[in-house]
Amino acid sequence: MIPAAFDYVRAGSAEEAISLLGEHGDEAKFLAGGHSLLPLMKLRLAQPSVLIDIGRLSDLSYIRDAGDHIAIGALTRHADVEHSDVLAEHVPLLAHAASYVGDPQVRHRGTIGGSIAHADPASDLPATTLALGATYVAQGPGGTREIAAADFYESFLTSTLAPDELLTEIRIPKMQGAGWSFQKFNRRAQDWAIVGVAAWRRNGDAGVGLVNMGSTPILATSVAAALSSGASVEDAAEQAVAEADPQADLNASVEYRTHLAKVLTRRALEAASS
Ligand SMILES: Cc1cc2nc3c(=O)[nH]c(=O)nc-3n(C[C@H](O)[C@H](O)[C@H](O)COP(=O)(O)OP(=O)(O)OC[C@H]3O[C@@H](n4cnc5c(N)ncnc54)[C@H](O)[C@@H]3O)c2cc1C
Repeated sequence: MIPAAFDYVRAGSAEEAISLLGEHGDEAKFLAGGHSLLPLMKLRLAQPSVLIDIGRLSDLSYIRDAGDHIAIGALTRHADVEHSDVLAEHVPLLAHAASYVGDPQVRHRGTIGGSIAHADPASDLPATTLALGATYVAQGPGGTREIAAADFYESFLTSTLAPDELLTEIRIPKMQGAGWSFQKFNRRAQDWAIVGVAAWRRNGDAGVGLVNMGSTPILATSVAAALSSGASVEDAAEQAVAEADPQADLNASVEYRTHLAKVLTRRALEAASS
């Protein structure tokens, strides 16, 4: 449980962080809250030679009303997302989902940008921001670019973020009164989800994201399509696994995960429709 030796540098700005990454190359990693990276390093599943600490970039910790969307700095802690008045008013699903991340200690260290950049299918916020139609903003040596959440997650713990890019902002469209629900099934409170579902619904539109139902966070587009073509909640929920590729692990077989995803999607849609 002791990580391999590494060098440590602290960045004073986003530009410095990107330039330090260029200087130290492929073996360097950003350190945000450290709550995903450090456990991997302790297990020696990750052995970066240099850690570039971005955890104190306060310029990247904010939640702002930007008109049609809410802009969240990548270094915003889960606890700040959970307790934000702006999100409670405009994107309550995200604030609520953040309250389910780990325990208070994890939520006071971990960042929304770290969670998304890590691209863990078992994490709560990647699937939630996917369901909400988020756009992520990345900054690299050549400037900034926007990436639709639906185009971001490639494979297990892998995203389309380039190795020399820093995730700087998450933009979430305002929910405009949509009904919503976050369903997380676990054996003990504060555990990771065995399966989770984030869903919203407004008139004919809906968005459904699945946690821990494949090698990436999953956007359940077939559920939304079924609802928009007039299917009942019960029938639409049967489509929950159409885009999923659930794996068996110590907590659940493929069949059990499939069953859970359908049941939780139905519950989430019923709550979002009520
Ligand atoms: C005990 C425990 C329980 C947990 N339970 C849950 C849970 O129930 N649900 C859940 O969703 N999560 C859970 N987590 C994970 C937690 O949410 C992490 O905080 C989060 O996944 C990663 O955020 P971080 O800021 O800690 O990232 P870090 O660990 O610092 O970084 C993770 C990875 O992302 C990269 N990175 C970080 N920030 C950026 C950036 N801005 N741009 C580019 N790359 C970046 C890093 O280089 C690293 O590769 C748990 C963690 C622990 C330790």
